[in-house]
Amino acid sequence: AKSRGGNTFEFFSQAINRGVRERLEIENGLRDALKHGGFKLHYQPQVDLATGSICSVEVLLRWRHPVLGVISPNRFIPIAEETKLILPLGLWVIDRACHQLRSWRNDGITDVRVAINVSVKQLQDESFFKALSSIVKRHGLSGPDIELEITESAIMENLSRVQAILKALQDYGITLSIDDFGTGYSSLGRLKLLPIQSLKIDRSFVQDIETDHGNAKICDGIIALGHSLGLKIIAEGVETEAQKNLLQNSGCDAIQGFLIAKPLPADEVAELITQLNG
Ligand code: C2E
Ligand code: CA
Ligand code: CA
Ligand code: CA
Repeated sequence: AKSRGGNTFEFFSQAINRGVRERLEIENGLRDALKHGGFKLHYQPQVDLATGSICSVEVLLRWRHPVLGVISPNRFIPIAEETKLILPLGLWVIDRACHQLRSWRNDGITDVRVAINVSVKQLQDESFFKALSSIVKRHGLSGPDIELEITESAIMENLSRVQAILKALQDYGITLSIDDFGTGYSSLGRLKLLPIQSLKIDRSFVQDIETDHGNAKICDGIIALGHSLGLKIIAEGVETEAQKNLLQNSGCDAIQGFLIAKPLPADEVAELITQLNG
């Protein structure tokens, strides 16, 4: 029994070591990629249901670790947040996204904005607003060219700490969206306090909207609630024509998802914009 206990301990300790080692490898990889390059941006269109044209593109980070291969942002963003690497990485994303938007503007694409995901850690950094606005300016852009997406749970857990920065961003003309809406716990009262312009319905409610009556009701509810507060509603993760039709009938303003396009490299999304926005 004694030796089996030892083996069990060894088994777990090896598993833990593997986990720790991989985490460390990701952390070091992030540092290295920040210094020497290695990140890429993809862009996923958001389509306005009233006009059928692309109103914004969401900016999504892509990274291939030299040893571990492609790693999902769902895996490396939390590590970047814990290590504060999200601060320089987040500014890199903003800089590259603005550079891309500038270049699209120069090519005559004038009616599209970029929607950038930001971590609440970035919003809590005192130098964030100054850094962001100077990047935007450097690329000859202005606040209204930019949308920021912040997840519902992060914002609600830090409401008092982010209120001032959200106000400053709004005054600068930046549009703020609450991401993954419906998964957190916003009350109407707290939602009303936030200087936001749109809600993104989480994919988990959209994905089986055709068959799950409860989820369909939740989407209807979010749309009605959002509209009553003067907010624009975007549904994420729309994969089928049936989902799109249901959302459109419920008054949803915009959709994003594989039905329109996967997140694409800049040149491919530009082609799609030219096609759809004519
Ligand atoms: P998110 O902001 O909720 O982004 C939407 C995710 O859903 C993306 O995953 C996208 O590729 C995926 N998606 C879009 N349409 C569909 C669809 O129709 N079906 C399905 N099954 N999936 C769809 P991705 O790119 O892996 O990003 C995961 C998360 O990582 C994002 O979730 C966001 O929270 C975070 N993230 C990505 N880029 C950044 C960034 O630059 N900064 C920060 N702070 N977070 C980022
Ligand atoms: Ca997002
Ligand atoms: Ca989301
Ligand atoms: Ca998400």
